Amino acid sequence: MPTLTRQVSRGETGWEETGGKPGLLGYLRTGMMPHLWCPGCGHGIIMGAFLRAFDRLGWDQDETIIVSGIGCSSRVTGYLDFDTLHTTHGRALAFATGVKLANPKLNVIVLAGDGDLAAIGGNHLIHAARRNINITTICFNNNIYGMTSGQFSPVSPTGSWATTTPYGSIDRPFDLCELVRAAGGTYVARGTAYHVRSLTGLIEKALKHKGFSFVEALSQCPTYFGRRNQLHNAVDMLLWQKEHAVNVRAATRMDPEDLRDKILIGELYRSEAPEYTEEYARIREQVRQKAREGDLVQ
Ligand code: SF4
Repeated sequence: MPTLTRQVSRGETGWEETGGKPGLLGYLRTGMMPHLWCPGCGHGIIMGAFLRAFDRLGWDQDETIIVSGIGCSSRVTGYLDFDTLHTTHGRALAFATGVKLANPKLNVIVLAGDGDLAAIGGNHLIHAARRNINITTICFNNNIYGMTSGQFSPVSPTGSWATTTPYGSIDRPFDLCELVRAAGGTYVARGTAYHVRSLTGLIEKALKHKGFSFVEALSQCPTYFGRRNQLHNAVDMLLWQKEHAVNVRAATRMDPEDLRDKILIGELYRSEAPEYTEEYARIREQVRQKAREGDLVQ
């Protein structure tokens, strides 16, 4: 494989000199490599699934804004060669909403972690879903705060161990997909790093969906979650995903008792509802029309 020797700018791949093909490297800021994720971390797999889905759609990088918050997964905005915003903790969806309202033609995508989206950013998540704004959010869910050394998050399973739950968590975790669906999101899906081909398809569908789309992507953090919860290493964690995930279609044929400790993956919900930026444009046009007619109420 040819080696890139320089930072390339968008539109260049760095591979022309070698006659090779860029593949997904054309979407990466290669000058930012090597990445900072731990060996065995699932975040790179999920980033790859996102890039494959994006590549299939043939969308323009220059028409796409990727927004992240703070955390291990939010480092993606440093690695991806799009217009990116690496924002403050929990606020990725607030920034993304501003971008989308300012220019609804842009593809706006949020890539962020479970701590970021479900804890400090939880309100932004439910209100983005409620508004059905046309933003795709991919939650890298590793069940823990990795970057700050392993505190439990709102999705850490009851009984799981973290630096802040040394005797096991007594909290009941959020089901993020149920949360987003109940809040008004119109596309909801779940996949895992193990089932990466399926995850790629789910992300592609989410990107194409008009309205608020949410994909929970189960990731593995061997460094903090795995080590503290007897899952030992990345391979064991991926095998756990393999053994515990059940496709939602297969689940309809299973005994509820057999589903007790299982996680449903696949497309969980899809519906149609008015999209927020279109509704906003409609109201704005009504106000303009009234102003033209001199009928604007002060
Ligand atoms: Fe991944 Fe965990 Fe390492 Fe963060 S701490 S990079 S989530 S393995």
